Order: sequence, then C-alpha cells, then structure tokens
Amino acid sequence: MNWLTNFVRPKIRALVSKTETPDNLWHKCPGCGQMLFHRDLDAALFVCTSCGHHLRIDAKRRLAMLFDDGKYQRIELPRTPADPLRFRDQKRYGDRLKDAQSRTSESDAIVVAHGAVGGFPAVIAAFEFGFMGGSMGTAVGEALLAAAHLAELQQAPMIVIPASGGARMQEGILSLMQMPRSVIAVSKMREAGLPYIVVLTDPTTGGVSASFAMVADITIAEPGAVVGFAGARVIEETIRETLPEGFQRAEYLLEHGMVDMVVRRKDLRATIARVLGLLLRREPSAQVLPFAEAAAAALTPTPRAPTPGAPAQGS
Ligand SMILES: [Zn+2]
Repeated sequence: MNWLTNFVRPKIRALVSKTETPDNLWHKCPGCGQMLFHRDLDAALFVCTSCGHHLRIDAKRRLAMLFDDGKYQRIELPRTPADPLRFRDQKRYGDRLKDAQSRTSESDAIVVAHGAVGGFPAVIAAFEFGFMGGSMGTAVGEALLAAAHLAELQQAPMIVIPASGGARMQEGILSLMQMPRSVIAVSKMREAGLPYIVVLTDPTTGGVSASFAMVADITIAEPGAVVGFAGARVIEETIRETLPEGFQRAEYLLEHGMVDMVVRRKDLRATIARVLGLLLRREPSAQVLPFAEAAAAALTPTPRAPTPGAPAQGS
C-alpha cells in the first residue's frame, strides 16, 4: 500500500529515531584509533589525549576558544546570489546549500566575529569545514571582504582560520574569482597598517592555500595540519616519485620556511595575544636616544672607582 510506505513508515521512523541514544558520545581518533569520550575531548579542546592528534572543530568552538572568556559578537554577512550558475550534479547546488545550512545552522562556510584576544580588539573569520568542506564560493569571498572592512573600521587586526578543501566547484569561475578578491581584502589590511594573521588548520588546500591563506604577516599552523595546493597522491602520480615523510604537514612546512610557527591548540590564544602585543605596540618599551648621543655614550669609558682592598693596578 502506498500510504503505508509514504506516510506511516516515515512517521514510525521519526518516532524511533528520537528515542535512540545519540551516537556522537564517542569519537574515534583519526590519528591513533583510540575511542575518546566527547566530554573529555571537549575539555581537551578536541585534541586526542593519547596521541595529541588535533581533530577538526567547528567555527563556533574555534571562536569560543580564541576570544577572551569565549565572548564575541558575530556580524551578519552580506547576502549573495544562492545558485548563480543553476548548477546540478547528482543533486541541485541549491539543495546542497539548504542541506548544509540545516546541518550546520550557518548561512555559508565562514563565520566572522569580533571581540578581544589577550585584551586587544580583533576580528576573526573562521571557516566551517562541515559546510560543504569549507569550500570558498562568493559568500566566503564577500565575508572576507566584510571582515577586512570591519577590522579597518575598528582599527583592529584580522585573524583568519581556514579549514577548507579549496574553491567551490558548484560556482565555477565565480568561486575562482574569490581568490584575487580575498587577497584584495588582505591588501586593505596592509594599507591600513593593521596586522593580518592566519592560523592554518587541517586541511587548508586548493584555492584557499593559493590565495589569502599564504600571504599573512604571521603564519601559524596547528600540529599535523595538511596544508598544500594539490593532494599528495596527485603530485606523486604526476611526478612519478615517492614524496618525503610528512609531506604537506605543518611541521614539514615549518622546516621549509612556509610557516612561521606550529602552535598547539591550547597555546593558540596566548601565542596570538603575544604576537599582537609585539605588532601593535606603537612605542618601544626602551628609551630611545638620538644616534650621536648613544654613540658618544658607548665610546666614552666610564671612570671606575677603585675597589677597596683590591691590589693596585700595575704593581
Ligand atoms: Zn589519538
């Protein structure tokens, strides 16, 4: 009977699924395979307690972790055309967007917020990897420009935390255009003389790694994060050579000068605060002497008072 399959069965399913215990109480560590209880994992900022693997986290957790006392204000992001190319693969792009929106309760793959980091006002744009792999479409490009604009208005530094597979293929050339647009956002920061910091997280690949993510004043990466343009397997097949151990990992990039520091998640906020302190302190903490005066002071030998009881020199 049709009404049985179409009406009764979904109703029963809905009733049954509500009473099921949530299956996300335990997480399996992708690094060592250990089963981790979600409360312990939450307390450890989603870092495996046995092997130190940094698990992927959503934008909300990321913002709460970085801002002082977990307090921040989100900004409303500019509206963009939803499906400009009327793209369709196995599914309509419009439907994919709606799915992702209801699953993540975000409008697109990025969240922009402002607050304080280590007492300094800051604007943070964090990617939501759960939203279509954190892919960069028009909405993300627009959000990055909005973040830079807000930072400029507030005279605050901008911190971007990518977690992205690259450009959003469903938006074709429009998504590729976000690469230069996001770099324009960064150059606004440079013109305003404000710091721009990037925290590379797992994964930062494709068009994102080929644009705003690699042009920061200070580039920080989380341990073990995969950062690269093309995937390791694609490169291996193209050049027909075995890639070195740890290729495209944060530590490898640090060794080869692509990254300034690799910082553990629990130390991120303190490190960013320290960097901001160094970059934003307008006056040096020491007294500045004019050059001539300083040179004269260095050249003149200071007369030393004879120490009592010491043997006289030259005797
Ligand atoms: Zn582990």
